[in-house]
Amino acid sequence: MKNILIIAGSDSVGGAGVQADIKTCEAFGCYSATAITAITAQNTNGVSDVLAVSAQNLDAQLKMITDELDIHAVKIGMLFNAELIKSVSLWLKRISDLRIPVIIDPVCVAKSGAKLLRDDALQALREILPYATLITPNIDEAKILELDTLNPPCNTLIKRTHVDEVCVDMLYLKNGKTLNFSENLQKPHIMHGAGCSFSTAIACELANQRQLEVAIQNAKKFIANAIKNAYSTDFGVRLLNHKKGFDE
Ligand code: PLP
Repeated sequence: MKNILIIAGSDSVGGAGVQADIKTCEAFGCYSATAITAITAQNTNGVSDVLAVSAQNLDAQLKMITDELDIHAVKIGMLFNAELIKSVSLWLKRISDLRIPVIIDPVCVAKSGAKLLRDDALQALREILPYATLITPNIDEAKILELDTLNPPCNTLIKRTHVDEVCVDMLYLKNGKTLNFSENLQKPHIMHGAGCSFSTAIACELANQRQLEVAIQNAKKFIANAIKNAYSTDFGVRLLNHKKGFDE
């Protein structure tokens, strides 16, 4: 079994963040270990509170996980503040010789509009991106980060560059090649946690040694199915069904 190390924030309603990451790993048959950066009090309509862990605590979580487990891919989500980003940067630098695939989802703002990154942490987030095998910003995050797609800091998948009955994502590779990925999207309003789940699905595929382009295509299909088979709940924004991500 492949082990995925997730560094991300907790979403109390269970649709995004670490909870979405764990559900995605389970669906892909991967084991998930989690280093939590922040605890959010949120539901699909908004975030009412965020409590960040200390950098010292995050370092300790990473040490305890990696003392025991071999890691086959790393997924990084909400990092929230510059102190935590710095800590993760130093850790990524230390493990860089191991050549483990690292996916960074540069989380800035939730779809509900809530800020998931402190304003003064933007530069630190920009500086951590070159450590990634792939980054997966949505189109708004790509603008906030002022990403240069002609000369990207690393392989860059910009999500939701076009959405109606199909959802298109654009991949800008470091070697200058550009590719696009599209899937039919039956329920575009169901998307809380779709981005978190997508990047984790790519991490699972890369842990299983899939080529980057195949990994993205398979992960995208999984998310489209999980959206199509979404739970019917009382939530204003309905939630993905990770258990049915492989059902057509
Ligand atoms: N909450 C946490 C902890 C997250 O990491 C993310 C990731 O983007 C979100 C919320 C955002 O969820 P969404 O924008 O999909 O609603």
